[in-house]
Amino acid sequence: MFSYRHAFHAGNHADVLKHTALLAMLRHLTQKETAIHFFDTHAGAGLYRLDGDYAQTSGEAAHGFLQLQSAMDPAQPLAPALQDYVSLVASFNAPGSTKVYPGSPFIVQHVLRERDRLRLFELHPTDAKTLKANVAQLDAGRLITVMQEDGFEGLKKFLPPPSRRALVLCDPSYEIKSDYGRVVELLTDALRRFATGTYMVWYPIIPRSEAHDLPRKLKTLAQRAERPWLNATLTVKTSKLGHDDAGEVVRPGLPASGVFVINPPHTLKASLVAALGQAAQLLAQGKHKAFEVESGG
Ligand code: SAM
Repeated sequence: MFSYRHAFHAGNHADVLKHTALLAMLRHLTQKETAIHFFDTHAGAGLYRLDGDYAQTSGEAAHGFLQLQSAMDPAQPLAPALQDYVSLVASFNAPGSTKVYPGSPFIVQHVLRERDRLRLFELHPTDAKTLKANVAQLDAGRLITVMQEDGFEGLKKFLPPPSRRALVLCDPSYEIKSDYGRVVELLTDALRRFATGTYMVWYPIIPRSEAHDLPRKLKTLAQRAERPWLNATLTVKTSKLGHDDAGEVVRPGLPASGVFVINPPHTLKASLVAALGQAAQLLAQGKHKAFEVESGG
């Protein structure tokens, strides 16, 4: 079984990028009255304790959401999309302390209307059980379905949705190399079934050929399908190996990640340029800060 648990990574810089972009898209898509179906093919546990053992062990939120929060300058207002994300996380916590971090299912449920639906896939038995228990506590729980299934396969039977409006988040752990190929297969199939859906894929930027090739392949896919696309990346540190005082090799951890969106809302690019410019500044470790937002179609 998989060893990846998102609890170790919740609130890290990759979550800052992914969840800021996700929320910006949700805000836009729920402006229209028509119902919309949301799908999260790799949902995780839904809610995470930043003061729990998992998060404390890795301390990734300390260089992600918590750093963003503490580095914010009250005299300099945040870009609207970044402020919206920070406020959303704050709404899960008592004033002045951030102990809980909402994963993508809870970010989506935050905007869910009576007419909308959210379908969550999570394969890991422990995380699926936690997710079900977390969802069961929500008033909106009846609008949400949790499936302990392979999200790459499971999505197929729900496209196109009855409302002909959908946002699909595909956020694998890439723990298995084949995930990269499966993302491309999922998008190829999904565009064939439902070309006008909005699709967002998160991917790591690491020195591995499959990871390097993924955004390029997704761009080709979008171009062939003649659909607009957007690719946004956030880099917070170097990818080079370092050495500690004893001369031991220190692996830098994830230095950067990206989100690739097919059929993005037309407002997304401007929102992300402003938000990621600030996020890169506030999350930079050392001299390494960068972001890029590219679009086409
Ligand atoms: N989307 C979540 C968020 O933003 O809060 C984080 C998801 S985490 C990066 C990836 C999750 O996918 C893990 O919880 C893992 O157990 C689960 N997973 C791995 N392979 C899967 C598959 N084939 N289908 C569904 N879930 C899978």
